[in-house]
Amino acid sequence: MFRRLIPDHRHKAQALDEQEVLAGITQQSTPVQFPSPREHDLASLRPRIIQELQRIVGVDNMLTEEADLIAYSIDGTWIERRPLAVVLPTTAEQVSAILRLANHERIVVAPRGSASGLSGGSVPLAGGIALALTRMNRILEIDTTNLIAVVEPGVITATLQAEVEQHGLFYPPSGGRMVKNVTGYNLRQLFTGAEGTLGVITEATLKLLPLPKYRLTALATFDLLEDAAMAVTAVMSSGVLPASVELMDQITVQCVEDLLHLGLPVDAEALLLFACDGNYEQVVHGELEAITSICTNHRARAVRQAQSDQESEQLWQARRSVSPALARRKPNKLGEDISVPRSAVPSMIRQVRTIAAKYDLLIPVFGHAGDGNLHPNILCNRRDPEEMQRVRDAAAEIFSAAIACGGTLSGEHGIGLLKKEFMEQDLGHDAVEAMKKIKLALDPNNILNPGKIFPTGKSAW
Ligand SMILES: Cc1cc2nc3c(=O)[nH]c(=O)nc-3n(C[C@H](O)[C@H](O)[C@H](O)COP(=O)(O)OP(=O)(O)OC[C@H]3O[C@@H](n4cnc5c(N)ncnc54)[C@H](O)[C@@H]3O)c2cc1C
Repeated sequence: MFRRLIPDHRHKAQALDEQEVLAGITQQSTPVQFPSPREHDLASLRPRIIQELQRIVGVDNMLTEEADLIAYSIDGTWIERRPLAVVLPTTAEQVSAILRLANHERIVVAPRGSASGLSGGSVPLAGGIALALTRMNRILEIDTTNLIAVVEPGVITATLQAEVEQHGLFYPPSGGRMVKNVTGYNLRQLFTGAEGTLGVITEATLKLLPLPKYRLTALATFDLLEDAAMAVTAVMSSGVLPASVELMDQITVQCVEDLLHLGLPVDAEALLLFACDGNYEQVVHGELEAITSICTNHRARAVRQAQSDQESEQLWQARRSVSPALARRKPNKLGEDISVPRSAVPSMIRQVRTIAAKYDLLIPVFGHAGDGNLHPNILCNRRDPEEMQRVRDAAAEIFSAAIACGGTLSGEHGIGLLKKEFMEQDLGHDAVEAMKKIKLALDPNNILNPGKIFPTGKSAW
């Protein structure tokens, strides 16, 4: 999809201020209760609702066969719930009409793009309407003067990237038409961060940047994971700002090597993949040299700069293949995406290793180390209840460790169904209550993605 959530590196002091303000707002009020979705008479209602939906989007943009309902019952997790029907609107007007109908009939709606999300956010709960935005996939405008693109929500990032590259631009990804804008509440962030619980986005204005002329890649190999993590913090505070810093630990590298046979150093405890870009070749080279010497000073066994575009592409292919490579090791994986202050990356990785040993689980760690955004992936078999209990306990300890070092539950994937029970631990009761009040004000009948984000006291998996 077009959207990426940027990690929110909050500082403890700021978090405390927020807590105080929010406590003032929510003090002494009773906890917000959401209306329950309609469930009891859904079956008898179905024929009429389907007829109404068909009238709005046309027969060709509706799916009601069992096989289609199964296909739209999942996302990138293993959580599965069968929708009442799938609608694939093609215009904003159709989306509005669907929501009006759903609101009138008190039927829940789960918006979804490509359903590749890793938190259960687009899984349709309570037999509602799966609202798939994939047919709203037009790039409406590329403005090369103001450096923006206007797109529909179903546009795939790679399609947009390819299109804007033809204009010498790239999509970073970020949003907004204005370079600066502090007018009113930040509804853009509120809605893009709401995971489909406040409204449906039918159009987005995205920022573009000029495509850098040069992009160079280097691979640093470390015997000790801790050294790699320390090298990341040293690079990021050195004044060099790499375009990407990706970390892969030993299990991750082994899995990728098993899949791609690229000759990656599988005996190393960690690899760091760096990319630097810019318009001046010497500057980019200089930055990569600086990174090389920092890694060497942090006991890198080797630092190799890619000698060709082909070699560079191979290395990035290795990084892109991590998810499918890990999926070959065990039937399932719980892909977490904690985000911690950069300085806490080494200690966070150490704690994940301790937690993995404590619960006797394989937890490879990879991620955007330069952002402090780590993906500990707990490999598991969801049909083994005893193992899944250990997975739950390990996940809870990873979240606690991330929060304790000033981090947060999710840098990219969102909360959805997987992490909702940990929201109060991260944000505090008052912040969650304030968010519930916003939800209730904008969606009083609780039809938009109910049961997501907010704690329900019951795990969804
Ligand atoms: C292999 C893999 C690698 C990934 N790597 C990255 C990465 O590097 N960086 C990163 O940021 N993320 C990454 N992700 C997670 C990524 O953010 C999501 O998979 C993707 O952006 C979700 O897009 P989607 O269209 O599939 O959304 P979906 O899964 O369909 O939906 C995600 C959430 O958004 C809501 N939603 C969808 N469309 C709308 C809409 N139009 N209006 C309102 N709400 C809507 C849904 O209800 C749901 O809550 C990765 C995921 C995978 C599987």
